[in-house]
Amino acid sequence: MNVDANATDPVTQPQPLSRPEVSERVAEVVARLGSLAKVEEPLGVRTTYRVGGAARVLVTAHSADDVVAAGQAAIEARLPVLVVGNGSNLLVADAGFDGVAVVLGEEFFDISRANTASGPQIVAGAAVALPVLARRSVALGLAGLEWMVGVPGTVGGGVRMNAGGHGADMITTLVGVTIADVAAGRVIERDAAELGLRFRGSTLKSTDVVLSASFRASVPPMADAGHGGPTGEKLLTDIVRWRRENQPGGQNAGSVFVNPYDGADSAGRLVDEAGLKGLRHKSAQVSPKHANFIQADQGGSADDVLELMRIVADKVHSLHGIKLRSEVRLVGFNTTEFQTEHSEDRQ
Ligand SMILES: Cc1cc2nc3c(=O)[nH]c(=O)nc-3n(C[C@H](O)[C@H](O)[C@H](O)COP(=O)(O)OP(=O)(O)OC[C@H]3O[C@@H](n4cnc5c(N)ncnc54)[C@H](O)[C@@H]3O)c2cc1C
Repeated sequence: MNVDANATDPVTQPQPLSRPEVSERVAEVVARLGSLAKVEEPLGVRTTYRVGGAARVLVTAHSADDVVAAGQAAIEARLPVLVVGNGSNLLVADAGFDGVAVVLGEEFFDISRANTASGPQIVAGAAVALPVLARRSVALGLAGLEWMVGVPGTVGGGVRMNAGGHGADMITTLVGVTIADVAAGRVIERDAAELGLRFRGSTLKSTDVVLSASFRASVPPMADAGHGGPTGEKLLTDIVRWRRENQPGGQNAGSVFVNPYDGADSAGRLVDEAGLKGLRHKSAQVSPKHANFIQADQGGSADDVLELMRIVADKVHSLHGIKLRSEVRLVGFNTTEFQTEHSEDRQ
């Protein structure tokens, strides 16, 4: 049985608020944060779906203190907090997000190599793009993080989602993280084993903001360093080519539904067998190339994407008896319908 990590966490409970209530709470946040808080900032454009509305408040954090201040202001004002990475796993409602969105600034872009007693490690800021980290690790002469070149998220979003692909995921090499626990108002270190990492998820709460992460890496054997084996560079090229050939481009957030049974079955196969590949609903379409991707049209609507998700999930349920769970984080929709397995996934 899965633990509902947020059952007692009012910050992440869906809270339908009236407009005046939202305005009042936003005013409280602005009074506390001053110029750090930007009001009614477009949020949908910060996601790879590129649809959806604004964040009532958006904070660009330049330090751990900014992150804690923003999170605490949200909590005091009883508004939800949402840290936004590359937005490659977010669908923001057309009505926007009635809360405080936090974006990490360039102060969280560092990558460095550390030599520890148990071998080399790579330490990366939470805002580092995973493909950048993959390429940098290879440039530093290290192996083990190449798979990240195919995942268009950031280190922070990758940890929260336990991102993975090409036979690896965060669990494979993550050593530990530095987190701003904004509910407690402090910065803490956590070992990877304490994060409840599981197939495309973790027990990190919306108030746990990853600031940086360390990864185990290895020094490739001689055969890999240009003496006949696959070099890191070749691996990167192969993964990028595979992605181009097998995944659709355009506006999407990758796989929409989590592969059931902790990845043992394929959501894409179930959608395909239900005959839904290519199905269009208003401005959203199940990709004709990959049945577990839903594309949004340019200038399209996030609500259309959600409606299409419902149509697909209902059909799969009636055919296969499986309730699909959303891998994409639904922001501002005030719905829990796709969080059937892990309710801590709510935003
Ligand atoms: C074309 C495409 C292909 C994809 N392929 C894959 C794939 O192969 N494998 C895979 O696993 N995923 C894949 N994804 C999904 C996505 O890239 C991953 O889930 C990624 O880890 C999300 O990172 P992000 O920075 O974009 O997070 P966001 O989408 O911004 O946020 C996702 C979640 O992480 C949280 N979050 C973000 N930053 C932090 C932080 N610093 N601290 C704590 N929480 C944070 C957010 O609050 C949210 O709950 C794909 C997406 C696309 C568009």
